[in-house]
Amino acid sequence: MKSYRKELWFDVPTRRAFINITPQVEACLEESGILEGLVLVNAMHITASVFINDDESGLHQDYEQWLEKLAPHEPVSRYRHNRTGEDNGDAHLKRQVMGREVVVAITGGRLDFGPWEQIFYGEFDGRRKKRVLVKLIGE
Ligand code: ZN
Repeated sequence: MKSYRKELWFDVPTRRAFINITPQVEACLEESGILEGLVLVNAMHITASVFINDDESGLHQDYEQWLEKLAPHEPVSRYRHNRTGEDNGDAHLKRQVMGREVVVAITGGRLDFGPWEQIFYGEFDGRRKKRVLVKLIGE
């Protein structure tokens, strides 16, 4: 069995963003030489997500509005977490809703997606360097 590990780095200039990281994951897959197996992709920070959905800008705006309604950033005083001196209480909650990781099957050297599926990095407390782990296992 082969295994492969890589960290992808992001430094998003805004507080929140959704980034399609499918090309980076495909590059990892190609580099690994694995044809049959699984890939795990997870955010290594508790204020960011990795999730799968459609690469459609309307949907991303819907996420932004929906998450901001569920857990508004302001006022930061509404979150007990922010009593630690942080201002990212909302980002922890947004990450929980959007998820930590995805697992995708690898078949014939390709990501075995359903229709329109793409892998996204969801940033909820950006403006600093953060990592995503890509771990592949297979043959
Ligand atoms: Zn925090």
